[in-house]
Amino acid sequence: MVRIGHGYDVHRLVQGRDLIIGGVKIENNNIGLLGHSDADVLLHAISDSLLGAAALGDIGKHFPDTDDKYKNADSIMLLKEVVKMINDKGYDVNNIDATVIAQKPKLAPYIDKMRENIASALNIDISRVSVKATTEERLGFTGNEEGISAHCVSIIE
Ligand code: ZN
Repeated sequence: MVRIGHGYDVHRLVQGRDLIIGGVKIENNNIGLLGHSDADVLLHAISDSLLGAAALGDIGKHFPDTDDKYKNADSIMLLKEVVKMINDKGYDVNNIDATVIAQKPKLAPYIDKMRENIASALNIDISRVSVKATTEERLGFTGNEEGISAHCVSIIE
């Protein structure tokens, strides 16, 4: 059976944090995303889309931010755990398509490295991993640089 899933995530931008998106540390003048884990907004959206495709809830349910085990957690490790849950249900990841919404910095130079990290965590060829980046034309909380959001859809079968 082919199943589709959708994931959405947002994190607030603050001073004094590393900016980590798609498992890549991005130079951004010490302004990064705030969260209990490493706050990797892209990997969280991908994880939620995969859990959604299998109707397994969301990452908040599986990796609660009240659990110290997940403090500053590497979201690549969380994504790998999600893939294991999907596999245990009898599914493999077919492909994912994600969009990161950030006014700045420019993410284009980092996209291929993000795709590599994600393909490796998902155990699929990089040709099955699409990552795009856009701004929201200075509108709303992403446009104001208050935060960064990410959407993802995925197919599992
Ligand atoms: Zn998140």
